[in-house]
Amino acid sequence: MTVKVGGVPVGSAHPIVVQSMTNTDTADAAATAAQVRALYAAGSELVRVTVNTDEAARAVPAIVADVDVPVIGDFHYNGHLLLTKYPDSARALAKYRINPGNVGTKRRDDNFRTIIQVAINEGKPVRIGVNWGSLDQQLLTEMMDANAALAEPRDARDVTMDAMVESAMRSAELAEESGLPHDDIILSAKVSGVQDLVAVYRMLAERSDYPLHLGLTEAGMGTKGVVASTAGLSILLQEGIGDTIRVSLTPRPGGDRTEEVQVAQQVLQSLGLRSFTAQVTACPGCGRTTSTFFQEMAEQIQTYLRDQRPVWQARYPGSEELRVAVMGCVVNGPGESKHADIGISLPGTAEEPRAPVYVDGALKVTLKGDTIVADFLRILDAYVEKRFGGGGSANGRAQRHVAIGVDQTDVALPKNHA
Ligand code: SF4
Repeated sequence: MTVKVGGVPVGSAHPIVVQSMTNTDTADAAATAAQVRALYAAGSELVRVTVNTDEAARAVPAIVADVDVPVIGDFHYNGHLLLTKYPDSARALAKYRINPGNVGTKRRDDNFRTIIQVAINEGKPVRIGVNWGSLDQQLLTEMMDANAALAEPRDARDVTMDAMVESAMRSAELAEESGLPHDDIILSAKVSGVQDLVAVYRMLAERSDYPLHLGLTEAGMGTKGVVASTAGLSILLQEGIGDTIRVSLTPRPGGDRTEEVQVAQQVLQSLGLRSFTAQVTACPGCGRTTSTFFQEMAEQIQTYLRDQRPVWQARYPGSEELRVAVMGCVVNGPGESKHADIGISLPGTAEEPRAPVYVDGALKVTLKGDTIVADFLRILDAYVEKRFGGGGSANGRAQRHVAIGVDQTDVALPKNHA
């Protein structure tokens, strides 16, 4: 089933969509729009903002008008009030995220129906996003009590996972009973443990055909957050579960919010599900590469490719499938470089100070001197222009195995070639 979110198709066989979320004060429209633009530039195809106060709700139309990506509103506790009080904001948002555990207690269903009615009136999809940190306590208590009455009660963790699925499914049922079309609903059920995430999403996928938004909630900081998110998402994506993803990293103070987009893209690209940017194969280095030159070069090439992504995406369709090898010495350097579209093998310690460059599996030139990186990037640019320039993606892909001659007649050869 496909759900359209601001024109972006989610579900069925459509590409898995990368999402992100801002951490600015939404009431600060300029700062929030700037971060939305940064996330979009990094590759986020949908961006969510929290809409938690009157000021935040009032800022939404200005934010949406200032960006080129669908903006999703995240609502807790007062979504029914804000969406009815600020119709321009309700209209501007591409989707509403509702947490069934946070729509009130006494008037929970009424509040939920109010949000659904706004979605129906505005023709917007909703994501029913359950989170175990704010699971519907009434439902959980009912299910725990029923479990306790069993002759052989199940593990409390299993009952909690069941309650999450039940909360999502009952809310979706209530939304449809209230008139929201079946294909305007996306579900999520986020937990912070990898095994729990896998278990709960397998159940959700089995019980419904709604598109699923995947993400390990509160994944954490740095390596822990990246690895835990990757582990959980990869298992599910490999099983065909998940239609949109978000990597919920905690940035370091002053850190780059777009890191979560880069990780989400890398997860999809590493699994072979989507291609976003040229990939660098770099060896880890070892005692044969005792200087930092190799690491610096690998980083410079990786950064160059990432920075070129938006430019190449527009100018060279298909270049996102480019494979570049940056290897530290002769042991695996030539072999790995030959497997890539374009590769360079650096001189290891005590090796002759020369860096052979391979293009489409063949040795094309050997670089030496102080300008190896700049020379290699120039050869790389020429290769991309020749292979992917001047046509559509079909052209780029059709040329995939067309060997180009990077020789003295083909590209401006670096002055230090041998
Ligand atoms: S390619 Fe060379 S430098 Fe890189 S890890 Fe292998 S042996 Fe070490």
